[in-house]
Amino acid sequence: MATFGTLSDRLTETFRNLRTKGKLTPADVDGTVREIRRALLDADVALLVVKDFTAKVRERALGDEVNKALNPAQQVVQIVNEELVAILGGQQRRLQFAKNPPTVIMLAGLQGSGKTTFAGKLAKQLEKDGHTPLLVACDLQRPNAVNQLQVVAQQAGAAIYAPEPGNGVGDPVQVARDGVEAARRQQHDIVIIDTAGRLGVDAELMTQAADIRRAVDPDEVLFVIDAMIGQDAVNTAKAFQDGVDFTGVVLSKLDGDARGGAALSVASVTGRPIIFASTGEGLDDLEAFHPDRMASRILD
Ligand code: GDP
Repeated sequence: MATFGTLSDRLTETFRNLRTKGKLTPADVDGTVREIRRALLDADVALLVVKDFTAKVRERALGDEVNKALNPAQQVVQIVNEELVAILGGQQRRLQFAKNPPTVIMLAGLQGSGKTTFAGKLAKQLEKDGHTPLLVACDLQRPNAVNQLQVVAQQAGAAIYAPEPGNGVGDPVQVARDGVEAARRQQHDIVIIDTAGRLGVDAELMTQAADIRRAVDPDEVLFVIDAMIGQDAVNTAKAFQDGVDFTGVVLSKLDGDARGGAALSVASVTGRPIIFASTGEGLDDLEAFHPDRMASRILD
């Protein structure tokens, strides 16, 4: 997983300077908060999130818990850690399963965000856990998308429901409905619905995704976002939240040289938890997301 190299290095440097001090003056705290603020902004964390984060850190760092601490600098590091965990969503959130199977999981996100790859990864992981997922191909926009999901399904050893080739463009909403019906008939306990993505947020795409959501009433709507998209993360996430009201986030490409901005912005801006981290092109490169572990990685 990404080390958040620069962000991590800069925070380490900031704390190293802080540790040279004994008691902390308000000026020391302000200087530290200013450095943290710059490091976060340079890592593409959204301004709104940075402001909120640094205000909380500052308030706590100037308060009694630091004043009375045996090691004030260490206490400030602890506060930064706790606040990082908080903006990453606090507690780990696991996938939610339906009481009455099949559990329906719908995927949404921009084209190239890693949806199809994630569909395969999730299917493989769920199979390992004894589930019998069915992948449903509802990206009928790109000619090659169904084929791509078929390849991924085969690699994952998972079943797939896809419209017959040559049947025209087809109706993705109907395919989603039929896919869930097929899962019920064939006793698959989980349905994973891959939907169309465009290069940019687009009204038609959102309407289609919202129609699919309404038609199949999913237990989870997972928004897959490329961790490398930086400052665009917030607007993209908000557009998808307005459009499909997702229940959780998948951060993909965390193995790349992501600066950390998307990871640190999306959960806090949308109020939706990050559930998975996708960390490579291989189908085994998928991890459950732990806010506390991610914070430790950043502050390591
Ligand atoms: P979709 O258009 O959203 O379905 O995206 P794809 O699943 O087709 O992924 C787009 C590209 O990103 C492909 O080349 C994938 O191999 C690659 N990819 C997907 N997830 C990851 C990841 O976690 N890490 C890396 N490095 N590449 C990924």
